[in-house]
Amino acid sequence: MSVSSTNDNQVPGGIYLCQANKKISCGACCGLYNVADPSYESMMGILTWRTDTFSHINRDMDTILAFKEEVEDREPQERPFPEFHHCPYIGLVGKELSRVGCLLHPLLDENKSIDFRGLSFYGGMACRVYFCPTYHHLPAAFKEIVRETASNWYAYGLIITETKLLNTIFEKVGNCLNRPLTKNDILKNKNTLEAVRKLLDLKINWPFRRRSSSGPTNYFFEDRLYSRPPVNYETIGKPVSRHYTILQELESHFNSAKELHAAEDLIDGLINKVITQVDRLKSEG
Ligand code: SF4
Repeated sequence: MSVSSTNDNQVPGGIYLCQANKKISCGACCGLYNVADPSYESMMGILTWRTDTFSHINRDMDTILAFKEEVEDREPQERPFPEFHHCPYIGLVGKELSRVGCLLHPLLDENKSIDFRGLSFYGGMACRVYFCPTYHHLPAAFKEIVRETASNWYAYGLIITETKLLNTIFEKVGNCLNRPLTKNDILKNKNTLEAVRKLLDLKINWPFRRRSSSGPTNYFFEDRLYSRPPVNYETIGKPVSRHYTILQELESHFNSAKELHAAEDLIDGLINKVITQVDRLKSEG
């Protein structure tokens, strides 16, 4: 996770994604979502405890390392992706503790400008120089749309690393418009923003996620240690869906052709709502 004093022109791709604004930030590459229970409620419980406890401890090496031991003792250590490190120093940051961030960061008030990130598993340098595949593979307009539509850090961090899913969704919207989607199509109107938000929230609410899935957590590193299996269409006697990339990225499983059609209709319906809003905005001038 890169530093919060960074801005757009200092990062690959020209749009800063890690600490986007007061409420929107991501900690996915620190393994934020690689927890036994990745629900919002459970994660808020964990992060609130860490943040509160960490705010009261001494800033010395032994105490900071003892904090890590305590976190690991009290939180379940079973993980969807066992080889993906989960950093115990992720907490809530900002004046209102309204987004996720690094408790070891020098900009945290209690750290008094001292950078303690060297005590983390990957060390401070990795935090400063790592940029996830989204920085390199998602067009700037799509990045801005995601950054502006996400309702909170939880929804944002789950979707922003889904490069393939996002590219496919936004390209489909562009195909329906017969031109590439632009940020102005979406960001100028609250109804359009809301329609996109609902479309992207499929990632959290997807009703056809296969039972053996690791849940909404995404392993997005380029070593592809945990890749997503293709959807099995043979068992339901259907050809590959027109939405095959979206369905695979959402880790879908279908017990019947009826379920597949329901999934396709759900995606089409949400895309059409975005198109309707964009067309309405255009016709209103
Ligand atoms: S996963 Fe990407 S956007 Fe999220 S904190 Fe890491 S580098 Fe930033």
